Amino acid sequence: MTASFAIEIEPRATLSVLGSDKVFPVRRIYCIGRNYAAHAREMGGDPSREAPFFFQKASDAVQACPADTTIQHLYPPMTSNYHHEVEMVVALKSGGRDILESDALSHVFGYAVGLDMTRRDLQDEAKTLKRPWEVGKSGDHSAPVGPLHPVSSVGHPSRGKISVSVNGESRQSSDLSDMIWSVPEQIAILSRYFELKAGDLIFTGTPEGVGKVERGQTMRAYIEGLGAISLQVA
Ligand code: MN
Repeated sequence: MTASFAIEIEPRATLSVLGSDKVFPVRRIYCIGRNYAAHAREMGGDPSREAPFFFQKASDAVQACPADTTIQHLYPPMTSNYHHEVEMVVALKSGGRDILESDALSHVFGYAVGLDMTRRDLQDEAKTLKRPWEVGKSGDHSAPVGPLHPVSSVGHPSRGKISVSVNGESRQSSDLSDMIWSVPEQIAILSRYFELKAGDLIFTGTPEGVGKVERGQTMRAYIEGLGAISLQVA
């Protein structure tokens, strides 16, 4: 017999799946840091020597975004330096521990365009004080993600334009092929630290050009083959 819950449970965050009326249930959100060389340098790192590192966002930080329709994105509290980081998001349909790089892509359900929204002032303070990054990285609604494009329709994108504009002005513009650690490498390395499972998302890092957005501005994040999402900061 299944126990009933003592309080009402929040439904899981979900993402829409292109070409399907089914939705993708989100389990954990993993993010990789400094995965594009020029961004690693702008954050004070050394891309040639640094091993990949990971952090998590709360899974209910997902803000599911429709394709090509501007939606509202609430400016979060406790910051005056709120940054966009456009990233390709990998969605897993299965997982495991110690996944081989050669087997990694078999666990991928699909891909989407996402934003790793960051309270940069709080993240910088955490770095200085050697504290965790949660308040900078895992804020409410800090993970806007567009509809998932299944592997069956989009394959495994490893090159193509990745960009974000703010009020039509280009802020970040790079290519997926500039990633330091490929998607199979990220999955393999991450699975040494955590048992990956169906429903997990991996934010694969952001290229250079991160910067602040203000209330009233509209961000448009785009990845070639994965479409665009558009959010007005409110
Ligand atoms: Mn990021």
